[in-house]
Amino acid sequence: MDTKWFFPKIGVLTRETWSQTLAGGSEFETGNGTLKVVNASEIDGRMFLDGERVSARAGGTIDAIDPATAEVFAKVALGDKADVDAAVASAQAAMGSWAGLAPVRRVRLLNRLAALLREHSRELAELESLDVGKPLRQAEDDVAAAAGYFEYFAGVADKVFGSSIPLGQGYVDFTLREPLGVSAQIVPWNYPLRLASRGIAPALACGNAVVAKPAAEAGLSIIRLAELAVEAGLPPGVFNVVTGGRETGAALASHAGINHITFTGSVPTGIAIMKAAADNVVPVTLELGGKSPNIVFADADLERAAASAATTLMQNSAQTCTAPTRLLLEAPAHDRFVELLATRIGTIRLGRGLDNPDMGPVVSERQMQRVLGFIAAGLKDGARAVAGGRRADGAGRNRGFFIEPTLLDQVAPGTELGQEEIFGPVLTVTTFGSVDEAIAVANGTPYGLVTGVWTRDLSRALTVAMAVKSGQVRVNSYSVEGSIGLPFGGYKRSGFGREQGVEALANYTQVKNVMINFG
Ligand code: NAD
Repeated sequence: MDTKWFFPKIGVLTRETWSQTLAGGSEFETGNGTLKVVNASEIDGRMFLDGERVSARAGGTIDAIDPATAEVFAKVALGDKADVDAAVASAQAAMGSWAGLAPVRRVRLLNRLAALLREHSRELAELESLDVGKPLRQAEDDVAAAAGYFEYFAGVADKVFGSSIPLGQGYVDFTLREPLGVSAQIVPWNYPLRLASRGIAPALACGNAVVAKPAAEAGLSIIRLAELAVEAGLPPGVFNVVTGGRETGAALASHAGINHITFTGSVPTGIAIMKAAADNVVPVTLELGGKSPNIVFADADLERAAASAATTLMQNSAQTCTAPTRLLLEAPAHDRFVELLATRIGTIRLGRGLDNPDMGPVVSERQMQRVLGFIAAGLKDGARAVAGGRRADGAGRNRGFFIEPTLLDQVAPGTELGQEEIFGPVLTVTTFGSVDEAIAVANGTPYGLVTGVWTRDLSRALTVAMAVKSGQVRVNSYSVEGSIGLPFGGYKRSGFGREQGVEALANYTQVKNVMINFG
């Protein structure tokens, strides 16, 4: 089957013409005649301010690198403080009328944006697959999830209810949930569109304006999202995107004109953002890292649990904050489970995201070296490699950032490998002998995002669910359709505040109490 790719400003590319394009080809034949290709580097990487694409004021750019080939495929605007000032000013100018719009109109606009996301699914997935390296199929799932966030929060935009409080004869008292103003959304690279939408959809639904700052590694799909928002009919300025790296993020987080920050990313950056927010006294929602345990008891359906663990590895090369990468196996289940999982890992096909393999590369050279460093340290600390453990050539593309899907056994909980978030395709195995021991090991890291539990014993599942310190517990399945409605967020250093579900509305509104004496 001939794969075709669509790029904004370029058009449809086939596999063959894509190679020509990378090589700088300028014209080629398509089924519909000759299509002029300027160059793949002309994928529009300008940011989105006040309803339009604009270059950075100072003219700076960042290279967008395809992690499968280590080649630069586009230039993305490098915004600085002046661009952040302009984006915040634009959002401030737009927020009054957006907040004042009849909520039912916001419902319609956000639903229209969701429909446009679904319509542009392939294009957005390709941009993200190129940017981050994930298999196209997974990138398409992410676009569907992004559309799902807009649909979900469109559904609640006209249901942001207050309450009435009885004060007795002659009084009426009620509460209003009002928007905060300008919400800064600082997004990581691992699920750009999905995670941006997780925060932007409820922010907009509640009547806030947004300035988003994607990660330097992955801005393209979020810029397109903002462009589609205007196409859907959202007023210019309601949703701006400033692209750039750490300094751009810092300029946004410390800006006196913002009223709220949602940050998803690493713990050290989360701490820096909290400090910046403190200076302006603005609320923050922090979704930070994880080191999620996956506790498998011997009575569990081991086949299903092993299949789920293998999916964890393949899903975005386990660069997923929720990934349950710490397998805690009850001793009698250990050998069988490890065998089942190793067999599955042996069939995982690596390749370039656009070729739809089972697993793609990791996002960058830096990330690859970091992950390989964790593996090396783990082996030194006594772990045993059951599968993988090395850099991979990614099906002949030995310039890309590929790592073998890796399973490390006999990982002591107190070692670096047992404590640090790896954020790459590595699963670790630790064996336990009792429920209490499993709970102690599960709780024995600074993180607390998600806990997986596999057992047929309901009482044991509930005992673990009540005892673990994590924002979510998932029993006998790690994913479910409709998870957008489930509150999500961290305990401990995994952060605070809850995204998803109606719980998220608390992040994006402030409560005003109105007391009236009419007697
Ligand atoms: P990161 O913290 O390096 O960067 C995240 C974002 O913050 C990027 O946009 C970056 O440019 C920006 N940034 C960096 N320094 C900043 C500063 N001083 N001020 C303001 N902005 C700044 O994280 P990353 O490497 O992009 O993402 C990986 C991390 O994100 C992992 O730890 C992962 O677990 C976490 N993560 C958490 C969730 C969640 O929902 N809990 C989801 C995905 C990823």
